[in-house]
Amino acid sequence: MAFEGLAERLQGTISKIKGKGKVTEQDVKEMMREVRFALIEADVNLKVVKTFIKRVSERAIGQDVMKSLTPGQQVIKIVKDELTDLMGGEQSPIKFAQKPPTVILMVGLQGAGKTTTTGKLANLLRKKYNRKPLLVAADVYRPAAIKQLQTLGNQLTLPVFALGTEVSPVEIVRQALEHAKEEHHDVVLIDTAGRLHIDENLMQELKDIRALKEPDEVFLVVDSMTGQDAVNVADSFNEAVGITGVVLTKLDGDTRGGAALSIRSVTQKPIKFVGMGEKMDALEPFHPERMASRILGMGDMMSLIEKAQANVDEEKAKEMEEKFRTQSFTFDDFLDQMSQVKKMGPLDEILKMLPGANKIKGLENAKIDDKSIGHIEAIILSMTPAEKTTPEIINSSRKKRIAKGSGCSIQEINRLLKQFEDMKKMMKQMTGMTQKGKKKMKLP
Ligand code: GDP
Repeated sequence: MAFEGLAERLQGTISKIKGKGKVTEQDVKEMMREVRFALIEADVNLKVVKTFIKRVSERAIGQDVMKSLTPGQQVIKIVKDELTDLMGGEQSPIKFAQKPPTVILMVGLQGAGKTTTTGKLANLLRKKYNRKPLLVAADVYRPAAIKQLQTLGNQLTLPVFALGTEVSPVEIVRQALEHAKEEHHDVVLIDTAGRLHIDENLMQELKDIRALKEPDEVFLVVDSMTGQDAVNVADSFNEAVGITGVVLTKLDGDTRGGAALSIRSVTQKPIKFVGMGEKMDALEPFHPERMASRILGMGDMMSLIEKAQANVDEEKAKEMEEKFRTQSFTFDDFLDQMSQVKKMGPLDEILKMLPGANKIKGLENAKIDDKSIGHIEAIILSMTPAEKTTPEIINSSRKKRIAKGSGCSIQEINRLLKQFEDMKKMMKQMTGMTQKGKKKMKLP
């Protein structure tokens, strides 16, 4: 998980001060020493660390905090506010052109995830903003890059404008813009060339594209795994071509956090999106406050709710409620529920969004991965229709047959049957409670 080390250290530090009824200057100093260490360890830019510590210390040692009834909580709030500020404060939305098309220039070093992000962003713009994007392949140095964008376009059923490798990028962009007008595309996403290092020619090329048409957004795509290097890259790109925002990729990996916490402060440009995986729907708007909250172990309920709303089918939810109520829930429904939850992403990532999830013992070992879900699916799929609706009939010879069919052990089958039974019992109690509640309400 991203920020794991940092989160662990900060949460440890916080727990020491949390419940204190009295916080001395010495306590704050001690805490700040630990926070400084945690940030440096997470590869946060030194200047950024210094300013951060200074700001938190000044506020925390202030009279208001020391005199308050819950000084420990106050200090934690200050840390959270300052972390949020450090990452930009508010979420920064995309700037759309007054007169379409909106032109978005995607820049970055090779391997940062630029082409993938271009596809993801186009997908998001279509799905969430109802736009009609055109992808433009302007990386003429690597034929593979054009192919890659075309493959993504195919996968997303989005058009890709390409003229091969013999035409200059500026000419490609000029023609692409004309094409966009003719075809009424309201957003044009330009995938530019990447290099292994910052290089003069590349910068000149980007400047030439800019000179042709001032983009509405210039998004720098950076790999969060590269830590402080990402900050240097951002600084150089910003100086040379001027960026309007940053997309941090690979935040689903075990990045330490240095890039996310330093980039905004150093470049003064907002992080607009984060890449959370290789799939085309794994791009999310960046919310500084929610991120701060997650780092400090306070959970991220807003993102969790949004994920559920985006992925869970309302009709299905109603149908399930009815089944719970009438206690006609079967293994088929169980499977259905599982696939709904699965759409929200890896389960252990979802659980981590719950406040205090870091304290749930064994969560880090509870690899609720695709493999174990796959086993459950295999078991259910090996049941007969009668077994799915009336699991009570599953005796030992049936279990043996299911084990053979699913390639799972008898223990795994027993475990699943037990889980299903427990769930039904719980449902019975819950519906019993609501029925009683309803009856009570009707009494005069
Ligand atoms: P480019 O050279 O900058 O265009 O980079 P690519 O788009 O080709 O991406 C390089 C690699 O990073 C590919 O294998 C992508 O699948 C992967 N990648 C991109 N974004 C993410 C992300 O957010 N998470 C993960 N896990 N992988 C990513």
